[in-house]
Amino acid sequence: MAKLYFYYSAMNAGKSTILLQAAHNYQERGMDALLFTAAIDNRYQTGKIYSRLGMSRDAVTFDTQFNLFDYAKNQQATNSTLACVLVDEAQFLTKEQVMQLTNIVDELKIPVLAYGLRSDYRGEPFEGSSYLLIWADQLTEIKTVCHCGRKAIMNKRVDEAGKVIRSGDQVHIAGNESYISVCRKHYKKD
Ligand SMILES: [Zn+2]
Repeated sequence: MAKLYFYYSAMNAGKSTILLQAAHNYQERGMDALLFTAAIDNRYQTGKIYSRLGMSRDAVTFDTQFNLFDYAKNQQATNSTLACVLVDEAQFLTKEQVMQLTNIVDELKIPVLAYGLRSDYRGEPFEGSSYLLIWADQLTEIKTVCHCGRKAIMNKRVDEAGKVIRSGDQVHIAGNESYISVCRKHYKKD
């Protein structure tokens, strides 16, 4: 039976690498994976999912108005080997789009694997992740470690001078700041 899976983590835990590996595994068995990523991510060119290990795959981009269910339904009608849907940057989904993913699973009977950040640099939830934590059949944490060796669960945003930034807009992808995944204790300390 198809299920909705949500793989969540802090930043730099290798989510895109794991997603691309899953796509590769399906392909090896002669099955196609439909890949989505957020249009908001302009770190590289839009329409591609990159892993820091060097792999990349083309992906369909979604903005907040995009209907993932309609797109998947059309794909299923024309591609009999479509076997799964993979969503990168799933934290940027709206609540409505999370519901569209549940419909891909329940009505189209296609498994959906969504990958996203649990929280932003302010320690606040993302809309997509909040609803995926509620509606997914299965939750899996992708673990990464803080510099102290504890599990990293928070994302610390630092500017060029290394100063911690704790407030502002939720999304800052194009700036010069960087993000460090840390444990709770080291998130609270400057
Ligand atoms: Zn730590």
